[in-house]
Amino acid sequence: MSLEAGFDLIVIGGGSGGLAGAFRAAEHGARVAMLEPHLLGGTCVNVGCVPKKAMWLAADVAGRLRLAQTLGFDVPPATLDWPEFIVHRERYVANIHASYRRRLDAAGIMVVPSFGRFVDARTVECENGTLLRARRILIATGGRPHRPEIPGAEWGCVSDDFFQWRAAPERVAIVGGGYIAVELAGLLQALGSRVDLFVRGDRLLNGFDHELAMQLGEDYRQSGIRLNFGHSIAALEDKGRRVRCEDGELSDPFDAVLFATGRKPNSERLELERAGVATDVGGHVAVDERHATNVDGIFAIGDITPNPPLTPVAIAAARRLMDRVYGGATALLDARDIPTVVFSHPPIGQVGLTEREAREIHGDAVRVYRAGFRPMLSALADVPQRSLFKLVCLGDEKRVIGIHLLGEAADEILQGFAVALKRGITLNDLRDTVAIHPTSAEEVVLMR
Ligand code: FAD
Ligand code: NDP
Repeated sequence: MSLEAGFDLIVIGGGSGGLAGAFRAAEHGARVAMLEPHLLGGTCVNVGCVPKKAMWLAADVAGRLRLAQTLGFDVPPATLDWPEFIVHRERYVANIHASYRRRLDAAGIMVVPSFGRFVDARTVECENGTLLRARRILIATGGRPHRPEIPGAEWGCVSDDFFQWRAAPERVAIVGGGYIAVELAGLLQALGSRVDLFVRGDRLLNGFDHELAMQLGEDYRQSGIRLNFGHSIAALEDKGRRVRCEDGELSDPFDAVLFATGRKPNSERLELERAGVATDVGGHVAVDERHATNVDGIFAIGDITPNPPLTPVAIAAARRLMDRVYGGATALLDARDIPTVVFSHPPIGQVGLTEREAREIHGDAVRVYRAGFRPMLSALADVPQRSLFKLVCLGDEKRVIGIHLLGEAADEILQGFAVALKRGITLNDLRDTVAIHPTSAEEVVLMR
């Protein structure tokens, strides 16, 4: 057993948050070791945001090719050659790996291709028995997909498996109504699958604006997705081909069933108890607003914590943490008004409070403004897909406290308006801004 003790910081996990923390600490002059047993980039780069967005873009192209046909273009029916597209997707991801590798080498960060577990509050053990010691340790081990505990669940797939698929299943059932369920349902339907969504509640995307979620449900229905609300799954039967619901109903056979029923933090293998690090009931590492755990010198960021499980949140938390620890800065991650987008078809995004949240907090002082319209391309092609934008405003000055966008380009439009909301703009500030015409985004500044 060897001991390496020349480090200031050990980072456990080389995903979005761990890498960002390691790079920023090294920029400040810290000597860093990072443990990562799998591919650099973690969930986001390998089985999350990046390959997902690639598939979303493929589905978007397929949708536009269908529109092109109705608009007079002489294009054949759009079918995707998955293996060919995946070559492009994997090349894109390989470039990210190579770029990380170059940057890690340039920064002098030692990467250990191993799981890590705590020996004590200053020591981490690698799988080959090597012990690493440092004054500070950052836990950034993220999470993994979670299957419901029902008979036959092992037959079902999860999002990690989706990225191994080499063809669209003809008939697919997706269980869940959150981010991943909605994203994969939209893109698989657009790429030619017949999708059934089994949602235990009565709407998609809890936590997003109710009206927009309803409209997205309508868009999904029109695209051919079968939405089964109020359907809790009791078991997978027939070698995972059929779904048994709690009311006893048995589905027709599917080619694949995919669980998108939330994620679990990767905390078990860390043996946190040996360092005395506390977790919450769900297994997340408990942190304060400085991302410090209950043990001096041990920090945690990203999906292993109870913070919103989004890549930019993990990265921002890691950078601010290292700026404080090694750079003398004081800024904390501002956890308010984090913008987020679901890459559905069309995308839906929000920043700030939903109408419901705002009314619960501020009652009658809340005013809501809406714009429902058909984006120009949908109107030209005479397809029914509509956009719905909402502003939630507060008080006589009508300060904008929520922005909710559903429709084409909502994913790209939201970022700039999120800056404006954070700066405390009012409805009049928006109205004082001259519109850019003809765009969907102009509807945000023209709302009355
Ligand atoms: P991860 O990226 O999960 O990295 C953790 C790393 O730790 C992993 O590489 C793992 O191998 C390693 N590890 C685990 N245990 C140990 C151990 N004991 N020792 C050493 N290493 C260990 N977010 C967005 O913002 N936008 C999106 O569009 C988006 N799309 C997503 C799509 C999908 C399908 C999924 C699943 C997630 C998506 N997310 C998205 C969420 C985003 O991927 C995560 O929030 C983000 O990756 C979290 O980063 P992290 O560093 O905390 O963890
Ligand atoms: P979510 O929390 O978004 O959704 C989980 C869904 O599964 C909910 O509809 C939930 O229902 C349902 N569910 C949970 N348990 C069961 C069960 N036993 N049976 C049936 N349904 C169940 O998690 P996801 O897995 O979709 O995504 C995880 C996180 O990853 C997201 O929260 C998000 O932060 C991040 N992500 C971000 C993306 C982005 O930024 N575009 C894309 C993908 C993921 P209920 O609502 O009733 O609890």
